[in-house]
Amino acid sequence: METIAKKLAEITARGLYRQVDSYQPQSPTKFLRAGKEYLVLSSNNYLGLTHHPLVMQAAKQAVDIFGAGSGGARLTTGCTLLHNELEKALAQFKGTQAVRLFNTGYMANVGVISALGGLDDAIFSDELNHASIVDGCRLSKAKTYVYRHSDMDSLEYQLKNASQAKLKLIVTDGVFSMDGDIARLDDIVMLAEKYQAMVMVDDAHAVGVIGTGGRGTVSYFGLEKKVDVQVGTMSKALASEGGYVAGSKILIDYITNCARSFIFSTALSAVTVASAYQALRVLEENPQLVSKLQDNADYLRTGLKMAGLPVIESATPIIPVVIGDARRAVQMAVKLNEEGILVPAVRPPTVPENSSRLRITVSASHTKEELKFAADKIISIARDLEVMEG
Ligand SMILES: *Cc1c(COP(=O)(O)O)cnc(C)c1O
Repeated sequence: METIAKKLAEITARGLYRQVDSYQPQSPTKFLRAGKEYLVLSSNNYLGLTHHPLVMQAAKQAVDIFGAGSGGARLTTGCTLLHNELEKALAQFKGTQAVRLFNTGYMANVGVISALGGLDDAIFSDELNHASIVDGCRLSKAKTYVYRHSDMDSLEYQLKNASQAKLKLIVTDGVFSMDGDIARLDDIVMLAEKYQAMVMVDDAHAVGVIGTGGRGTVSYFGLEKKVDVQVGTMSKALASEGGYVAGSKILIDYITNCARSFIFSTALSAVTVASAYQALRVLEENPQLVSKLQDNADYLRTGLKMAGLPVIESATPIIPVVIGDARRAVQMAVKLNEEGILVPAVRPPTVPENSSRLRITVSASHTKEELKFAADKIISIARDLEVMEG
């Protein structure tokens, strides 16, 4: 225990201490904490569907019909008709032959990558990939080659290096979770064809966000049929929980038999599945939600950039304002908190050293007035703390 306490003290001294807060959501964009109302600019609930009447109703109906928990793994007795229906609907949405659900996006990445990467295989992973991809690589028996962020020369160099590998798998976030930029999936697919590699994209922040009707990165680049593995989550734009992998029938069959995080974990409850299913339906029937989200993101990003804030350029609702020093980033987040705005300071190890940042995320549910209010506060606090560019 003494050793652990010492390590914890070190974490605290470096400004990296984290703790859990709890909230009472009033709507997708307004949360209560200790009686005070906050404007939320930090949720992955991109389309605000957590509180959509049809989604909430689907959850209530599901609990009446199926009860609360699933009571078993998918391969035993935990699978309802709803699970199968959601997989079918997701496959149709993604334009793939099949889909397999996982309990989280994290578990999907860990399970899929460790199942695919065997002893004589090679995985090529972008250095800014999500932690769940990193952990999947660590769990697999394959050798992992990390390439510089979205750097195709670096990727090609690694592909050449590993020419002896049996299976080659290039894996990338579709939309990078901390920088909000979009992977160069078209270039990645070209290199994959040249070096006979499989391609896997993680669409956690891309579904409901980019591509036709929010279909994700493959759709955004028009690369249908050229990407072997698409992982995603129902926990972000789909307003529920759970992950999935989409691809060919053979891939899904293999994953079903070999992905340990699928096999050895209790199935999602029907309540979760029903909400995700209904959210997907709402998204399909309301593609204008995706344009509204884009419009809101552009509005806030432009406002912050024009004022001279060090914003990372992107075309997604993830708007990072890079402060650098962890303590200063936290200081800004605390001041925003005092003004009733929830924006997190993201610090190492989530982002590289000296790139601590405010990570702002926008939802289709925000009004322009809310975004203007937030922009004004962020800009005035940034001026006070002298974090402006140039
Ligand atoms: C959030 C996220 C995940 C994990 O998904 P969960 O369903 O929350 O476990 C995986 N990959 C990326 C890129 C993410 O942003």
